[in-house]
Amino acid sequence: MSESVFSRRRFLTASAAIAAGTLVGAPGIVRAAAPHILPPLPYADSALEPVISAKTIGFHYGKHHKAYVDNLNKMVAGTDMADMSLEKVILATAGNADKAGVFNNAAQVWNHTFYWAGMKASGGGKPTGLLRDRIEASFAGGYDAFRKELASAAMGQFGSGWAWLVADAGKLKVVKTGNADNPMTKGMKPLLTIDVWEHAYYLDYQNRRADYVNAVIDKLINWDFAAENLANA
Ligand code: MN
Repeated sequence: MSESVFSRRRFLTASAAIAAGTLVGAPGIVRAAAPHILPPLPYADSALEPVISAKTIGFHYGKHHKAYVDNLNKMVAGTDMADMSLEKVILATAGNADKAGVFNNAAQVWNHTFYWAGMKASGGGKPTGLLRDRIEASFAGGYDAFRKELASAAMGQFGSGWAWLVADAGKLKVVKTGNADNPMTKGMKPLLTIDVWEHAYYLDYQNRRADYVNAVIDKLINWDFAAENLANA
């Protein structure tokens, strides 16, 4: 499958098509109830082996991600959020304790779609071009410092959560968030993320989160996707 199948442009196109309901019935989509649907994986479920197994993807995408979509649809049905885009739901419910259930499911839908798109077979390693330049300019110590910071954030997130590369006020930064939280709620622009919930790695790595994180960074990061997000930042 093409590397660009889940590029930013395709992501937006898919979102628009999803909103219009035109993807219902498309092959390869695990369907959820309208209006939010589970976007297709940008690769086969075995594409990221041996770093992430087809079995992990089967549960993580086919069960966890799908459940967030199904839960979100149930929660927003018949409310003033029923017709909102995913991003609007996330921003409208962030920090509102009464809407925590909606926020958690909406953000988890977004985070997982972003996570899948941010990986590819034979990815990882150092970025090139503008992204390389921005990393050099943003992290004293360049790529090696960035890599260390990203791995530390992913390993140091206590419990469930996410490690991110974001653009924030013109600089690139590494941040971590707990549970479903997403840096977009603080005005940052996500470029990449690593899921560090146990369901992301436990079948393949058990408690060895560091092995999972290092393998994702060195072998799976889709820098093309990050570059497209940076270009749109
Ligand atoms: Mn997950």
